[in-house]
Amino acid sequence: MGNGGRRTPLRVLGALVLLAGVFLLLVTLMELFGSLSADGGPGGWAWWTAVAGLPLVVAGGWLLQAGAATEPPKRPACATCGREARPGARFCDGCGALL
Ligand SMILES: [Zn+2]
Repeated sequence: MGNGGRRTPLRVLGALVLLAGVFLLLVTLMELFGSLSADGGPGGWAWWTAVAGLPLVVAGGWLLQAGAATEPPKRPACATCGREARPGARFCDGCGALL
């Protein structure tokens, strides 16, 4: 029943971290492009957004992958007792019901 609900927070967290990282990198790009037309070097905070954005993108992608990897393999479960069936099994190991 609750199978599969556990991986969702990891994926949501990964997506959020990835989005935050992409956002920071976009801010960095805009800051860099903006500073090209303006005189003077890039703004001081353009650097920490790049420094923070890159690891966030990497971590977000990793979390998404981890969330997908921890996804339990699709296995038929017995409708009667809920026990996981062996691959290719026609009858339940637990109660003998037809799967
Ligand atoms: Zn069963």
